[in-house]
Formats: sequence, C-alpha cells, structure tokens
Amino acid sequence: MKHQGSFDCLVVGAGFAGAVAARELASRGGHQVLVLEQRDHIGGNAYDCYDKEGLFIHQYGPHIFHTNDKRVYDYLSQFTRWRNYQHKVVGAIHGQLLPIPFNFHSLHAAFPPAQAALLEQKLMDTYGAGRKVTILELRRNPDADLKALAEYVYQNVFVYYTQKQWGTAPDEIDPSVTARVPALLSRDDRYFQDMYQGMPEAGYTKLFEAMLDHPNITVETGIDAKTRLQIQGETVLLDGVPFPGPVIYTGAVDALFDHAFGQLPYRTLDFVFETHPQTFYQTHGTVNYTVSEPYTRITEFKHLTGQVLEGKTTIVKEYSRAYTGQNAEIPYYAILNPQNLEQYEQYRALAAKTPNLHLLGRLAEYRYYNMDAIVAQALSLSDRLLKEQENKKI
Ligand code: FAD
Ligand code: UDP
Repeated sequence: MKHQGSFDCLVVGAGFAGAVAARELASRGGHQVLVLEQRDHIGGNAYDCYDKEGLFIHQYGPHIFHTNDKRVYDYLSQFTRWRNYQHKVVGAIHGQLLPIPFNFHSLHAAFPPAQAALLEQKLMDTYGAGRKVTILELRRNPDADLKALAEYVYQNVFVYYTQKQWGTAPDEIDPSVTARVPALLSRDDRYFQDMYQGMPEAGYTKLFEAMLDHPNITVETGIDAKTRLQIQGETVLLDGVPFPGPVIYTGAVDALFDHAFGQLPYRTLDFVFETHPQTFYQTHGTVNYTVSEPYTRITEFKHLTGQVLEGKTTIVKEYSRAYTGQNAEIPYYAILNPQNLEQYEQYRALAAKTPNLHLLGRLAEYRYYNMDAIVAQALSLSDRLLKEQENKKI
C-alpha cells in the first residue's frame, strides 16, 4: 500500500469527472494519484450493478451515453466497447403513448389527419425540416394554429412533468432546461440525435474499473474526503499536512466549504425499483408521465442494457423533490437561476483563492452537465494542468 506522502495529486470523487482526470494525470502526467470516494463503489451516478433478482440496473437512474464530441467518444472507447442503443421515450398522455420529444409522429397521433397535415406544413414552412424548436420558441409564434399546437405541447408534455421535476412551472426555470427536449420537425423517434450513442457493452462500472486500472492510481472508497481534507486559506491540507499537488474536487462545493454562504439549492430523487414477473413491462426504455402520476418517468433497464432474461424485469420510478441536506440525500440537479448562480459564484470565488484546488463536475461546477460534457471538461482541465506542469519544467 502506498503511503499518503507518496501521492502528488488528489482527486475527490470517482464519477466521470474524477475518474477521467485521475486517469489523465496518472497516465499522461506520470502523477501518483489518490482518489477518495465517499460511496462504497466507483462510477458516481453512472454506477450500474446487478440487483438481487439478477437484473442489471442503474442504481442512480437511467444513464444513456450520447455525444457529438468525437474526442470524448474515442477517449471512452479505450475503456469499453459499445452496445448500439438508440434511446426512445414516449409520454403517457391521456391513454396514448406519444413519442417524446414531440415530433411528427406525435403530431399525427394527437390530432385528426387534416389538422395534423396543416400543422406539419406550417411547421415546415416556418422553421424548416429537421429543425429542433424549443417549447418557448414555439409558444412565441404568432400564428394562431401554431400557438394552439404550442399550447397543446406545453400543457401535455411540459407543465405537469416540470412541476414534478422542479417544483415549478416551465417558464420559471432556466430556458436551457426545457430546451434539452425541443420539438423535432421530423419522424425521427429517438430521444437524442447525437452522432454517437449507446451503452457501454459490459456496463458503466466496468468502464470505470478499466479507466481507474492504472499503476499510478490508488482508489479508496467509503472515505468522505471532508474527514481528511482541510482548506486553510491558500493551502490544502491532507491528513493535516500541506498538499501542494493538484487537488481536483468533484463533490458539492457548498459542502466543501461547510456551507459558508448557505446551502445551495438542489433537487434530489427517490428511486423506487420494482421487479415484475414478466419478460417486459413496457414497450420503450422510458415512459414519461407528463399528465398523471406522482413520479416523472418509468425506465425499464432491459431495453437499455440488452439483458436477456425470461420472466422477470426491473423498472425504476423516479420521484423528484427538494434537497434538504438530511438523511443521506444525494443532490442530483443544480437549480439554475440567477439567485442560485450568484450564491454559487461566492463559493467559486472562495475556491479560486486556493491555487491548486480545481472544481470539476456537475456538483462542483453547479451545472446541468451530461456525461459527455463532463468527460470533455475533465479532459480540458487535465490538458491545462499537464501543460502547466510542462511549462514549469522548462
Ligand atoms: P457524480 O457522478 O455525481 O460523481 C461525483 C462523485 O463524487 C460521487 O461518486 C460522490 O459520491 C463523490 N463525492 C462527493 N463528495 C465527496 C466527498 N466529500 N468525498 C468523497 N467523494 C465525494 N447524463 C447523460 O449523459 N446521459 C443520461 O442519460 C443521464 N441520465 C441521468 C439521470 C439522472 C437521474 C441523473 C441524476 C443524471 C443523469 N446524467 C446523464 C448526468 C450524469 O449523471 C452526470 O453527467 C455525471 O454523473 C456527472 O459526473 P460527475 O463526476 O460530475 O458527478
Ligand atoms: N421535460 C418535460 N417533459 C418531458 C421531458 C422533459 O417537461 O416529457 C422537461 C423537464 O423540465 C425536464 C427537462 O425538460 O426536467 C429536461 O428533460 P431531460 O429528459 O433532459 O431531463 P433529465 O433526463 O436530465 O432528467
């Protein structure tokens, strides 16, 4: 076992942010990297495993990889092969299952033929084939027919789901959030249109095992870094001793600073897993409940993972609520609004006073990042740190 003094780089958190940074600093920079992870496993929220019924599940909610960033795809492809999977989602809307994002199939299922044909033509003429139109953009359209359509989509796809997910109406959350699911002017039924999409063939946890399997990386799980790490002005102390190397922190930034500027607002989720005695439970990977039910969506893992097993299947229902910081809740989503970003900025400015401390990841940066964006961000931070290291040598 390596002695604590033999490390020259510290990474807090073994999710995508921490694992990619650790791998890069270890393999390209020759750093001896210590990774501290508070959970009893690696992988962060992308962690997957078998449940007690033998079904392969995502413990922290469904994760589908998708990106247009070739560098990210090629990078992760060093550690996994991919199972081709194109995620499809339907909304359970008053007894019908309509494709989401709302597209031309949804349009024709929701409206009588003549009306649907008229709306399709107007959408094509106004925005162009294949365009993605956010609900806010569609609602601004002055045409009476398109306005009525926008209202239909707003009411049936966004209002109730958003109320459940964020505790507020779609107009009161950051526009970038609903813009993640724009109406799609085509018959493409996929949830994502990215160039590369799929699932790690043997799962995310195996991908992480491969990424962290390097002689220069030591991972300690079940360790809350806060019990070993202190920040005193410009200095980071590890076990009471100044740690001069890069410290990459991927946890919640308010927790790092003992909530000095108050607790940042987040949404947390309760995942309710159920195993059913049938081979498949639903027709699609995910069904969104946009007008009914207290949960936002049901995901059936077998669609995502491709696991073949007769006679049973595991699903997960997601219930969203305000994060309180109690009872081992996990902060899953930053709530983006000017007030919260201002509060975050105080933490960021405080962290910036410690030159070797780097905030990275969805929690540390208080951002709504997908996995690919985190990998890209971790690669660019690693590039920058390795360049600085090179410059010091010259
Ligand atoms: P995390 O995965 O949260 O990792 C941070 C790690 O740091 C955690 O393991 C945590 O335990 C650890 N940590 C925190 N504090 C400490 C501490 N004090 N000491 C030690 N360890 C600590 N993205 C997609 O691209 N596609 C999807 O389909 C998708 N689905 C999602 C579904 C849900 C329900 C959620 C919540 C997110 C989804 N995401 C998806 C986003 C994805 O989860 C994130 O982009 C990714 O996990 C972020 O990686 P990260 O390393 O920043 O954070
Ligand atoms: N959304 C919605 N209805 C849907 C799907 C999405 O209202 O059927 C809104 C909702 O506000 C959600 C946001 O769009 O939080 C982003 O959806 P996405 O599927 O990207 O959320 P994630 O998978 O990140 O939870």
